[in-house]
Amino acid sequence: MELSKPTQVLDSLATHGDMMSHEHDSAATATGKRAPRYQSHSLDECITNLSTPRGPKPVLKSMVTTACERNCFYCPFRAGRSKMARVTFTPDAMAGAFDTLVRAKKVDGLFLSSGIIKGSVTTQDKLIDTVQIVRRKYNYRGYVHLKVMPGIERDQLAHMMRIADRVSVNLEAPTEQRLAALAPKKEFLTELLQMLRWANEIRAADPHQKWASTVTQFVVGAVGDTDLELLSLSENLYRQLGLARVYYSAFSPVSDTPLENVSAASATRQRRLYQASFLLRDYGWSVEDLGFAGSGFLPENVDPKRAYADAVLRSAPIDLQIADREQLMRVPHIGPKAVERLLKARQQARIVDLTQLRALGISRPDDLAPYVLLDGCRPPQQLALFPGA
Ligand code: SF4
Repeated sequence: MELSKPTQVLDSLATHGDMMSHEHDSAATATGKRAPRYQSHSLDECITNLSTPRGPKPVLKSMVTTACERNCFYCPFRAGRSKMARVTFTPDAMAGAFDTLVRAKKVDGLFLSSGIIKGSVTTQDKLIDTVQIVRRKYNYRGYVHLKVMPGIERDQLAHMMRIADRVSVNLEAPTEQRLAALAPKKEFLTELLQMLRWANEIRAADPHQKWASTVTQFVVGAVGDTDLELLSLSENLYRQLGLARVYYSAFSPVSDTPLENVSAASATRQRRLYQASFLLRDYGWSVEDLGFAGSGFLPENVDPKRAYADAVLRSAPIDLQIADREQLMRVPHIGPKAVERLLKARQQARIVDLTQLRALGISRPDDLAPYVLLDGCRPPQQLALFPGA
């Protein structure tokens, strides 16, 4: 069914609810909360809050069509799920519906994806057309995030990177073999990774142009993928292809799909992947710094930074007075902002007491005691009341 009026789109969104619960674009998804299943039924559930420096930003998440000719094994929209009602919106109708919500101050941002019908290039044009109408006819200058269909043309990608603020190319899996087990009609190197390479080249060819940032997403835990595989590729994506963010989506089985009997992946695993990914992206860590168990998985019972501190810093503590930026980033509870404050503060006065760190925004300075030196000496540690608890 193709809907061509904005009011029909709004009614349909309210009926279908969050079509894109499996797509991540918000800070909330980094907490390890599992995304809700595709079963909600209200317009509000199509609106997600992005966290921004100026507070939460409500963004409409929608699809141009929920029909698809591909058959990804994890996806509710895959071809052949005959009981599922499909809906398609024309670019005019989708743009008009979005404008209605912007004017009503319900949303300030659009995240648009789609199933694939008549090939990726044709489908991508519909997403591009929708945003062109939003930009030109409705003069909307705010946030737009567009999903890149697998295997589109380079010119389409460059165009999207001009009219959107963010584009996502979901790799889904960390290797060709894993992708073949998840989405046999997607081609890892030529249809997915190549899009990210092009995005990087497009940015590099004209660094003064304002280009959309690039992100990706993995489906975690459906086909034996390890944390080591996921994080090794994430590190390369950050370092070599300039990705702004990698999202990890814990697999959750969908009925009437080939993976319906595979167990859901753990939300804690998802959270640990985000924590490790931030260390790679923002703290200058490399995958070798992360403590994988022999099987290639992060321990789930401890966050990766604390695991490193317990394994390494207890016997080789960091001197807060002389350590460089990179070494300071290894200490639990010290992030990039606290490091900058600490570097400034120690130029003015020696750090001789952990309580001085409270003024630098480090909320539990006593927790640092096992991992640091003050003026070359270990600070006193509080004895645990219940050892081993
Ligand atoms: S191409 Fe996208 S919408 Fe289609 S089955 Fe795969 S993940 Fe689902």
